[in-house]
Amino acid sequence: MKIIVGGGISGLWLAAELKARSIPCCVLEKNALGQGQTLASQGMIHGGTKYALDGALSNAAKVIGEMPERWRQALAGMGSVNLQGVALERDSQLMWSVESVTANLLGFFASKIMQSRMERIDPASEPAFASPAYKGHLYRLNEPVLKLHTLVKRFESLLEMQLLRAEVTRLIKKNGQVTGVETNQGQLEGEVILTAGEGAAALIRDAEFTSPIMQLRPLAMGLCRLNTPIPKIFGHQLGHSSKPKVTVSTHEINDKQYLYLGGQLAEDGVLCTDLVQIKKIEKTVEEAIPWLKPDIESTQVFRINRAEPYTEKGNRPDAAFVQPMAGAFVCWPTKLSLAPALADKVLDALKPETKACFPAWPRASAGEYPWA
Ligand SMILES: Cc1cc2nc3c(=O)[nH]c(=O)nc-3n(C[C@H](O)[C@H](O)[C@H](O)COP(=O)(O)OP(=O)(O)OC[C@H]3O[C@@H](n4cnc5c(N)ncnc54)[C@H](O)[C@@H]3O)c2cc1C
Repeated sequence: MKIIVGGGISGLWLAAELKARSIPCCVLEKNALGQGQTLASQGMIHGGTKYALDGALSNAAKVIGEMPERWRQALAGMGSVNLQGVALERDSQLMWSVESVTANLLGFFASKIMQSRMERIDPASEPAFASPAYKGHLYRLNEPVLKLHTLVKRFESLLEMQLLRAEVTRLIKKNGQVTGVETNQGQLEGEVILTAGEGAAALIRDAEFTSPIMQLRPLAMGLCRLNTPIPKIFGHQLGHSSKPKVTVSTHEINDKQYLYLGGQLAEDGVLCTDLVQIKKIEKTVEEAIPWLKPDIESTQVFRINRAEPYTEKGNRPDAAFVQPMAGAFVCWPTKLSLAPALADKVLDALKPETKACFPAWPRASAGEYPWA
């Protein structure tokens, strides 16, 4: 029996791949499915454009480049994970500059590198940019954006009884090897795969392993509730550096429209107080889409960590991470988009398995957007 600890995108995708191969597995989730980083994310299936803004096709851009197609196949019901029924927010993302020569140049060079995956388009073709007051350059990226709650619901119906609500409190070790888990529901034996996001570090430490080491990269995301809706935007505003100034996604909850804001804005804001960050968020929105005159009713800061393997410079690692650890595996996808790549790596490394022993523990069900 394969025991997957953590019901975020990495655990759910892996479990679906195992199910497709009739390999017995269960997912143990302490809260609700997706409630960690997965439902907090902006749902963008990156294909690397964001990482090509420094004018070079970085390793990160190459690795992630195949992911949009892999997801599209799953969304179309082709391939081993069938995500038919998962809704898209948009089929493509946008990237735009606002009257800045540097930002225009960054877009130009990225479009040369990304070629068919990024094209400059006429702003008149996009409702959010069709205003004559918009003067920048607009690009369309061939990278979809998912409605995340439909994604988590789809995995919930795909995996059903394999999803168990249990908090893993300890890894069980025999002769130095991990042989199972202890949970608040009882013990379970099997090959353990940690896809527990931020929760992995405590389990590694308590089992007295010194490697792998986790790093946390915090974000102070912005959430603006609007009085009047604007045309929906999913994309990135180019700034003066190789990182987008702000990444915007648009959501509707209880008849209200929200702008959810990440990118450099959220990275730079982690050391600011909420009061200071709220001012920065509102100024960034005004500057990013001034022609839409967004009428902000209220603004909040939503703080969350990205959990990843340690890197020397503290950067985002280039690829999905899987490391064996005394018979278990520790996994961090580092991006939602990279969940299929992570599952491929685990599948290559797992022992053959046929024995199933499902405990009669409570079911884990789909979570809600944590910022809503
Ligand atoms: C604000 C934000 C925006 C992002 N936007 C994007 C984006 O647009 N595109 C993209 O590709 N990536 C994005 N990312 C990155 C992406 O969200 C993450 O890389 C991905 O969701 C990680 O998935 P995961 O399954 O590894 O972890 P999580 O989603 O964090 O799941 C881990 C799960 O493990 C459970 N757990 C932890 N400890 C235990 C335990 N002891 N027992 C049982 N269960 C446990 C947790 O409850 C949680 O549900 C974003 C991240 C953030 C924070």
